[in-house]
Amino acid sequence: MIVVFLGPPGAGKGTQCKELVERYGLLHLSSGDALRRHRKEGTELGQKAQSYMDQGTLVPDDLIVAMMMDEMKNIEQGNGAILDGFPRTIGQAEELDAALAKTEAKVDVVLNLEVDDSKLEERITGRRSCPVCGAAYHITFNPPQRENQCNAGCSELTQRPDDTSEVVQNRIKTYHEQTSPLVEYYQAKGNIVNIDGNVSIDKVTQSIRVAMDEMTIA
Ligand code: ADP
Ligand code: ADP
Repeated sequence: MIVVFLGPPGAGKGTQCKELVERYGLLHLSSGDALRRHRKEGTELGQKAQSYMDQGTLVPDDLIVAMMMDEMKNIEQGNGAILDGFPRTIGQAEELDAALAKTEAKVDVVLNLEVDDSKLEERITGRRSCPVCGAAYHITFNPPQRENQCNAGCSELTQRPDDTSEVVQNRIKTYHEQTSPLVEYYQAKGNIVNIDGNVSIDKVTQSIRVAMDEMTIA
């Protein structure tokens, strides 16, 4: 099963993916995480992606599609994946569909996490994560047990350099201009379900469970 997770930056996609991985045995493939890994390792792709990421604009489609096709090689036979943050443009979605069609696969479910713009900045600027295990926290909505320390005891929490108020506004604008048209793209295919992401983390998890169970039984 291939699940695409759509939603603006800071909507809560990464947070909810953890549950989806555990409950449905899906591989979590996050384009943002993959790009950050490339940057850390100093690959050519990481260097090319840097300025786009720092400004909150999109990395060009050809680079992202090649990277995600590579990531998708890790999907084991018979199991599925959740694509978090990819596709983000119509061009990427078309390339994904074409690549999946070659193996007689398709996007089975699209979860569209809807969050009002007014909530996104607070979610993003309060986001902290563990650089060792990747666990995500929020200073107000999901604080760690000990201030600024990962609950698993790995490390001090860090803030992403693009999680500042200035860059956030650009990322939200980019989402509306280039990514939100995907909602209509998938609506036309009839496999999208809208999830209200304005409520608490637990409530969103519940709605996703209901939606996934309905979509996978149907
Ligand atoms: P995305 O992957 O969509 O960019 P994240 O999952 O990283 O978003 O969430 C952004 C921030 O908002 C994180 O700090 C997370 O803890 C917090 N968060 C996620 N979901 C909710 C929610 N439903 N209510 C409040 N805060 C949330
Ligand atoms: P968020 O969900 O909080 O916006 P991500 O971690 O998904 O953040 O993405 C961080 C940055 O990586 C984006 O602002 C963009 O520059 C780049 N990026 C991630 N995924 C894509 C994609 N599918 N296409 C183009 N750029 C991407």
